[in-house]
Amino acid sequence: MSDAQKSDSINTAQQVPIVILTDLDGTLLDHHNYSTTAAKETLALIKEHKLPLIFNTSKTQAEVTQLRRQLDNTSPYVCENGSALYYPDETGQMTCLVPGASYDTILKVLSQLRKDGFHFRGFNDMTDTEVAAVTGLSTDDAYLAKQRAATEPLLWQGSVEELAAFQAALTDHNLRLLEGGRFYHVMGRADKAEGVSFFRDFYHKHWQSEPTMIALGDGGNDVAMLEVADFPIIIPGDKRTITVNNTNAVTADFKGPKGWNQILLPLLQQLIKENCGG
Ligand SMILES: [Mg+2]
Repeated sequence: MSDAQKSDSINTAQQVPIVILTDLDGTLLDHHNYSTTAAKETLALIKEHKLPLIFNTSKTQAEVTQLRRQLDNTSPYVCENGSALYYPDETGQMTCLVPGASYDTILKVLSQLRKDGFHFRGFNDMTDTEVAAVTGLSTDDAYLAKQRAATEPLLWQGSVEELAAFQAALTDHNLRLLEGGRFYHVMGRADKAEGVSFFRDFYHKHWQSEPTMIALGDGGNDVAMLEVADFPIIIPGDKRTITVNNTNAVTADFKGPKGWNQILLPLLQQLIKENCGG
């Protein structure tokens, strides 16, 4: 079984029904050195109590697979901003659910829009070397970033007016355009909140008890996930800190894994104590 397919056994009794969903870059991973060291105490507690730690990220499956291996994580995961959910089926095999449009559908629509006169260059149009050059990734990592399931990043090459028309054309095809830093992302109607609702039902079914959903994130694309979580934890952003419409939201004092550890450790200790009756 490959690492991408390796998963926890989920049909076991769960003493502590807690599910944690986390963004990676700038949240669990340090923005600069990608380290999780500052969160190691909490990561050990999560492992000890066998709590699912679900990565909910804009990264692709190929990129997440590498990180799960490095971080010894066997939980389900969510890729491409909620557009592809990976979970074990009855046999324990990792299965992918694409709640919105598939990558094939997106590429077909983009090819039509190009014929209609819109100017852009997507990852699918670029070689690994070209993706490496525009993202700053290594060529190997650019290859992983090009293995997509349900979203297409692109560089816009038209005018601002044409961009508005492009966006309207995507809406007609039931797609949307998400503005990232450098890239625009064409995707179906999914967001990171999808992971919270899907895995709330998933674990409820498997554990026969309602799980408590904790979510952590630092970016604009994390807001939807944080708003539907029971315990949303906001990590201060690199440039600005997001605001979330959820009365339970707590903001950490520190960026990245240090802030992740600061808020999550006492919260888990308290919830574990309540669930274990001690
Ligand atoms: Mg982030």
